[in-house]
Amino acid sequence: MPLTDEQRQEIETERAATRPTRRATVPALEDILYAAIPVLDHGFVRVIDYMGDDGAIVQAARVSYGKGTRRVSEDAGLINYLMRHRHTTPFEMCEIKYHVKLPIFVARQWIRHRTANVNEYSARYSILDNEFYIPAPGHLAAQATTNRQGRGEVLEGDAARRVLDLLREDSERAYAGYAEMLNEDEAGRPRDPAWPGLARELARMNLSLNFYTQWYWKTDLHNLMNFLSLRADLHAQYEIRAYAEAMLDTLRRWVPLAHAAFLEYRMNAAAISATGLTVIRRILAGEAVEQKASGLSVREWRELMSVLQRKP
Ligand SMILES: Cc1cc2nc3c(=O)[nH]c(=O)nc-3n(C[C@H](O)[C@H](O)[C@H](O)COP(=O)(O)OP(=O)(O)OC[C@H]3O[C@@H](n4cnc5c(N)ncnc54)[C@H](O)[C@@H]3O)c2cc1C
Repeated sequence: MPLTDEQRQEIETERAATRPTRRATVPALEDILYAAIPVLDHGFVRVIDYMGDDGAIVQAARVSYGKGTRRVSEDAGLINYLMRHRHTTPFEMCEIKYHVKLPIFVARQWIRHRTANVNEYSARYSILDNEFYIPAPGHLAAQATTNRQGRGEVLEGDAARRVLDLLREDSERAYAGYAEMLNEDEAGRPRDPAWPGLARELARMNLSLNFYTQWYWKTDLHNLMNFLSLRADLHAQYEIRAYAEAMLDTLRRWVPLAHAAFLEYRMNAAAISATGLTVIRRILAGEAVEQKASGLSVREWRELMSVLQRKP
């Protein structure tokens, strides 16, 4: 996560300033406000701003005039109830804004979550940094044989070395081509005064998907939990999951009661089909149920068995 000295200084200046407010603030989130949480080799997530806390959820649910909160146990009970019964609008009363630096291929998955406000770094206006993602050796895996969207065994030895060399060489060559087409040095002066250079909006097109981009991403708590339930899930691609896991920790700091309810009723819970429930009932009744006679497809059977054996 190479931040420049100037960027580090800007973050420190923001973190040193405090402002009086009548609004609810959350000390555990204030502790990490603006700080860059490292993700992958050059990425990060920073909480830039937020509105509301656990109290804002119960306040909206009770449509109260004051804070609306009662004893912590009562508030927790209400938040659990809302989460369990998908009474979602009180969660929409809280908002959070992140600054994220992420590889372009992760951004392409992330941007599919439409219920957020996004402003991305403009590569028409600015020059992209020479920063690209190279997976750590432990995350360099072969194509899964059972799941077309997944990873199999970790690559080792010559195969791993060759992949890393290819990724690094291709990325370096792409950036060298980008810099040559731009014909600009870091101060914006032409490298070759005899050549006009290509527009930034065109020169960027040869960069590969592992180059880093950045954006501000703002969403409400309800949609943040939707995002996390899909992207912090074990089936999500490791690279976006790494971001989601960092954000899960910001959720814990921000709204601990909603976070606990989210883990209990969504992240560590499971949706079971009607046939799946029948299978569970038969197993509980002591019947030796087999996939073929269960009414479930092989894939559904595998998924149900993995849910039943899964540890939170
Ligand atoms: C494991 C995994 C694999 C995936 N594979 C693919 C893939 O192969 N190809 C691919 O294209 N995508 C893929 N996706 C993306 C996926 O289809 C969703 O686009 C993405 O997860 C965003 O989810 P969402 O629509 O619920 O989120 P959001 O866009 O944040 O929407 C939240 C909810 O708002 C509602 N909503 C938002 N916009 C609309 C709208 N225009 N119309 C109606 N309702 C709306 C829906 O109820 C939606 O669930 C994959 C996602 C995951 C997690």
